[in-house]
Amino acid sequence: MTDCIFCKIAAGEIPAQKVYEDEQVVAFKDLSPKAPVHVLIVPKKHVQSVAHFQAEDKELAAHIFVDVVPKLAADLGVAEGGFRIVLNTGDDGGQTVHHLHVHLLGGRKMTWPPG
Ligand code: AMP
Ligand code: ZN
Repeated sequence: MTDCIFCKIAAGEIPAQKVYEDEQVVAFKDLSPKAPVHVLIVPKKHVQSVAHFQAEDKELAAHIFVDVVPKLAADLGVAEGGFRIVLNTGDDGGQTVHHLHVHLLGGRKMTWPPG
């Protein structure tokens, strides 16, 4: 989608500190990290949010959660200690970039509830 910052990162048009990439997703360090480990997992296809997933996206959603999240958590050294995944969705959910992204946060003790 034109003018979507995460589409541009996925296309390599603007730089990011990539930690993982395959045919379907890219993962890169958050510009404003909220934990020692803070990466964003982003589908290359523009999907606005989880509220906009379609039936055709089942394989993509499974890929993100079954393949990529556990692999990245292990590679980034937080699988054992624990981590948090966050999908801010819509305005009330605190979503500021309207291209679906999974925050993977770790390396410190998280608190609950979130703000
Ligand atoms: P959200 O508030 O869930 O929509 O999260 C958007 C996240 O994207 C924030 O944590 C930002 O710090 C991060 N962000 C925005 N622009 C960039 C960028 N160019 N590179 C890396 N992270 C970004
Ligand atoms: Zn996009």
